[in-house]
Amino acid sequence: MNNPSVDAVVIGTGIIGAMAAHYLQEDGRTVLMIERGEVARGASSGNAGILAFPEIIPIAAPGMMWKAPKWLLDPLGPLSLPPSYALNMAPWLWRLWRAGARPAFERTVAIHAAIMPLARSEMLRVIERTGLKAMVSQTGTLDLYDSEASFDAAAADWAAKRGAGFGFRRVGRAEIDALQPGLAPQFRHGMFTPDGLQVSDPYEFTKALVDHVIARGASIRIGEVTGIEPTATGARVGLADGAAFEAKTVVLAGGAWSKAVAASLGDHAPLETERGYNTTLPAGAFPLQRQLYFNDHGFVVTPLSSGIRVGGAVELGGLRMPPNYKRSEAMLKKAKDFLPDLNTDGGRQWMGFRPSLPDCLPVISPSGATPAVIHAFGHGHLGLTQSAATGRLVADMAARRQPALDLEPFRIGRFR
Ligand SMILES: Cc1cc2nc3c(=O)[nH]c(=O)nc-3n(C[C@H](O)[C@H](O)[C@H](O)COP(=O)(O)OP(=O)(O)OC[C@H]3O[C@@H](n4cnc5c(N)ncnc54)[C@H](O)[C@@H]3O)c2cc1C
Repeated sequence: MNNPSVDAVVIGTGIIGAMAAHYLQEDGRTVLMIERGEVARGASSGNAGILAFPEIIPIAAPGMMWKAPKWLLDPLGPLSLPPSYALNMAPWLWRLWRAGARPAFERTVAIHAAIMPLARSEMLRVIERTGLKAMVSQTGTLDLYDSEASFDAAAADWAAKRGAGFGFRRVGRAEIDALQPGLAPQFRHGMFTPDGLQVSDPYEFTKALVDHVIARGASIRIGEVTGIEPTATGARVGLADGAAFEAKTVVLAGGAWSKAVAASLGDHAPLETERGYNTTLPAGAFPLQRQLYFNDHGFVVTPLSSGIRVGGAVELGGLRMPPNYKRSEAMLKKAKDFLPDLNTDGGRQWMGFRPSLPDCLPVISPSGATPAVIHAFGHGHLGLTQSAATGRLVADMAARRQPALDLEPFRIGRFR
């Protein structure tokens, strides 16, 4: 065994693994992080950087099946399902459809509404105690609609957010202009969330957290975990290069790649990926004041320290298919229509893998095989937002403390 003395092994250095490592370390545990690629370069590097605490409405929603065909008909629209992968997605889509039925949908909204206050308070605590506060700003979020009809169609979602205690206000063209000059004339209906938070850059933020954990004594090992097995005192993690590490606690935070490793313990999760795309333009491309969310088009424009990021879209294409950067280009073209003075030169394109479960909830759960292994994956569109809450819940489980939240909705066994 390579490291008989480590207390906890965390698989994955995305934002979920970084938060889990941080909270375990705060509990006084020695931590080893294992990463098969470059540190913090998974989905957590290229997201939109939004701490989207009011986003309690899942993609599986009543009416989804009416909207989806329209989106799918546009090959570069906000949702796509490449024909060669459609059969693989069928079981996941069936579960997603069931999750969109009214009672299941309302339950999911309530679960997100319950975790979001914890997500926010824990995130604020983390940035305070790690010195990362300067990487988070409160610029507010401006949601924009193409027409009054599409604004009205979202009324129930906004009512649910208000019911959960989130604050925002309706804005017309004059206020939209004040909040973000330079928008195309069709945007006359919007919603402004003044306390919307964002990180300055999601890669820098995740990497800084990993660096913080390492500076406080954690170690890191590059290698691919192929399986986990229970032992008398914890669990053993096996790597593709033949190495093995044993610890009292093992956290699986491998994002979209977690399924096979969980399966090595006999745990089943119908994890798929919603591939997302973006283009990051140089910082001077547009005088962007805050995050703009184009609701009818499924993409967001965010001001980051690394530039202006135009990103979103969902492509249900699995982990192996090569990226289709026409999606990034299609979003950029729309962004140019919506912000006519946007300079679209010199952008960097990216595709990343959202780790997505069909009931739109993550797995934050002990393994069915042993409580020594804790699963923390499947955060879909909300991984950055719910990362600190996940880290806290992982540490609660590892310490056998009463968890800060009821963990029943996040059990891995719910898919049996
Ligand atoms: C376009 C886009 C925009 C988004 N915008 C937002 C947003 O604004 N706000 C928000 O909250 N969320 C957003 N998300 C979602 C968010 O990015 C993800 O939910 C989150 O990054 C998932 O984090 P993670 O740590 O689980 O996965 P990842 O960041 O992918 O990290 C997993 C890590 O585990 C490693 N790994 C995997 N398997 C193994 C193995 N077997 N052995 C060793 N290492 C392994 C991987 O190499 C990787 O580094 C967005 C996603 C996309 C694609």
